[in-house]
Amino acid sequence: MLKKKFGQHLLIASGILQKLVEFSEIKSEETVVEIGPGTGNLTKELLKTPLKNLYLIEIDQEMIEKLKKNIKDERVTIIQADATKFDFSSLKEKELKLIGNLPYNVASLIIENTVMYKEYIPQAFYMVQKEVAERLIKEKSWLSIFVKTFYEINYLMSIPARFFVPPPKVVSAYIKLTRKDFKEISDLKNYKKFLIRLFSQKRKMLKHKIDEKLLLNLEISPNKRVEELNFKNFLSLYSEIEKVKKI
Ligand code: SAH
Repeated sequence: MLKKKFGQHLLIASGILQKLVEFSEIKSEETVVEIGPGTGNLTKELLKTPLKNLYLIEIDQEMIEKLKKNIKDERVTIIQADATKFDFSSLKEKELKLIGNLPYNVASLIIENTVMYKEYIPQAFYMVQKEVAERLIKEKSWLSIFVKTFYEINYLMSIPARFFVPPPKVVSAYIKLTRKDFKEISDLKNYKKFLIRLFSQKRKMLKHKIDEKLLLNLEISPNKRVEELNFKNFLSLYSEIEKVKKI
């Protein structure tokens, strides 16, 4: 029985599964983590590559039982855990490649958690709702700025609903996150808080949220709204606000 609450839509088309794995360019000696392996369709395809280790992170006990039956490979470690909260440092690996046909109801939370562990994750490949992918890439939200501060996001391909069982109500998209060489911000929780605050009540002018003098110092018009800021503005605002706090 597939469970709606766990966003279970299994990918069945072998051509698509192959494509997803091809995109992820897995090399020998790489450690891969698959999020939400389900019954193991993508897992089997991943195991055709020369990867060194494959960790499977699955929340549903029933799926875990199926995985244990379906997947017999020494390189695999099955972990029952919630990927929205998983501590990737616990795997004791320096570099992880993340991949997954994500449960769409919690895809944003999984992406957020990926960024939290960016130190270990140079690249991630995720299947998400097409709309979620487009919003992350094109729109300004606290999450899109948060992700794009640390990762470049590329849209790899769209996947129609008919390739899944049961078919979701939406079109899907496969995206790639590539970590940027950006080390200026180290306290990610604090940065997240700052962005959430800045994006709350989006229509309000910035001067109602941030000291006007500070805005003028950075040559940002106090009458602007958060969506009118550019990427550099977010970074300079954060760094200024942090400075003030430390004094
Ligand atoms: N990768 C499989 C299944 C994708 S469906 C395939 O392509 O066929 C999404 C999977 O994520 C399901 O197996 C579901 O049980 C699992 N899942 C849902 N919420 C999760 C969470 N918070 N953490 C880890 N896995 C989760």
